[in-house]
Amino acid sequence: MTKKHPGINTICTHSGELEDKQFKGAVSPLYMATSYAFEDVEVKRYPRYFNTPNQVALAKKMAALEHGEAALIFGSGMAAVSTSLMAFAQKGDHVVFQNTLYGGTSNLITEEFEKFGLEYSFTKDSKPESFEAEIKKNTKVIYIETPSNPLLTVTDIKAIAEIAKKHNLVSMIDNTFASPVNQNPIDFGIDVVLHSATKYMGGHSDILAGTVIASEEHIDKIFQLAKNFGGNLSDFTVWMLERSLKTMGLRVRAQNENALELARFLEKHEDISRVFYPGLESHPDHELAKSQMKGFGGMMSFELRDGLDFDLFQKKLKLIKSSMSLAGVESTILSPSKTSHGLLSPEEREAQGIKDGLMRFSVGIEEKEDLMEDLEQALKEIRG
Ligand SMILES: *Cc1c(COP(=O)(O)O)cnc(C)c1O
Repeated sequence: MTKKHPGINTICTHSGELEDKQFKGAVSPLYMATSYAFEDVEVKRYPRYFNTPNQVALAKKMAALEHGEAALIFGSGMAAVSTSLMAFAQKGDHVVFQNTLYGGTSNLITEEFEKFGLEYSFTKDSKPESFEAEIKKNTKVIYIETPSNPLLTVTDIKAIAEIAKKHNLVSMIDNTFASPVNQNPIDFGIDVVLHSATKYMGGHSDILAGTVIASEEHIDKIFQLAKNFGGNLSDFTVWMLERSLKTMGLRVRAQNENALELARFLEKHEDISRVFYPGLESHPDHELAKSQMKGFGGMMSFELRDGLDFDLFQKKLKLIKSSMSLAGVESTILSPSKTSHGLLSPEEREAQGIKDGLMRFSVGIEEKEDLMEDLEQALKEIRG
């Protein structure tokens, strides 16, 4: 029996590793050089050309993780997103974006696109027909994010890939929330997969990085722009990220398990009016999530019952920290209406279904009993 791809933990541990020929060390050696002797006139190794030994090795692991042919590693998730978008959409072109996107991506579109002569539309919701409705003559790219922030809305990946093929468009996905452990969009026909590696790939809240995975042809096109934009990641951090990825499968599976248990616990709790987690039968996109995800991830959100003080709730939590970032081994929580979506008007938030009492919860790898106890004691405190 031949399997097309090795299992996730095998890829995490081994794919792309460099051999230490000199000392036979157990891990990839780190090459920090910014200058390399020419092998021939064609191959010039230089960090900004994305071709140092550690970058090439990690790109192989990234490609293996997402079942793609090739990859590039960037200095941030946004460097990967902006460079990839601009490689396929130029002056006069149009891009269709999902309505619910990561804040930084929304800012890139609304603050920068016009300056570069790029046109765009946002869909009215995440249904496939809403994407098709926005396609124009000059559309080049269709861009989705699933599950999306903060209500964990799920988009039909296969349907989007088919629409893109039908209209001869490049399909792109921000796969950060799911991670390659839980979702591999290339298997469903998506062309370009993006990650903020700052999140589950790094996993320890100490690395800022991004990556893009696609076919050789698409990666070459992105590379042509990337080498001029100059958004590569330093080799030291590339090496750190390789180290982090070795345990990604273990971490994310532990986070999946904790999140599902905690979502069930919160859903039954009298102080919680609603829980949004794709792994719950009550989630509107649960069946779709089941059809395209291998696990439901570590991200969820929930609403406190009307009248409960959500600011005080966050302050009373002892183990779970209030933090903007997500996907680390430590559990964190934030209030979207005060932070990630704080710049929207109350009406805009309402339209997106974001209530003031909504909490976004990034579940870590702590013991779930301890997390439940922390939530319980904070709820008890605010009930008075
Ligand atoms: C964090 C994040 C990004 C941006 O990544 P940076 O590494 O902060 O540049 C993009 N998309 C999603 C879904 C994210 O969570």
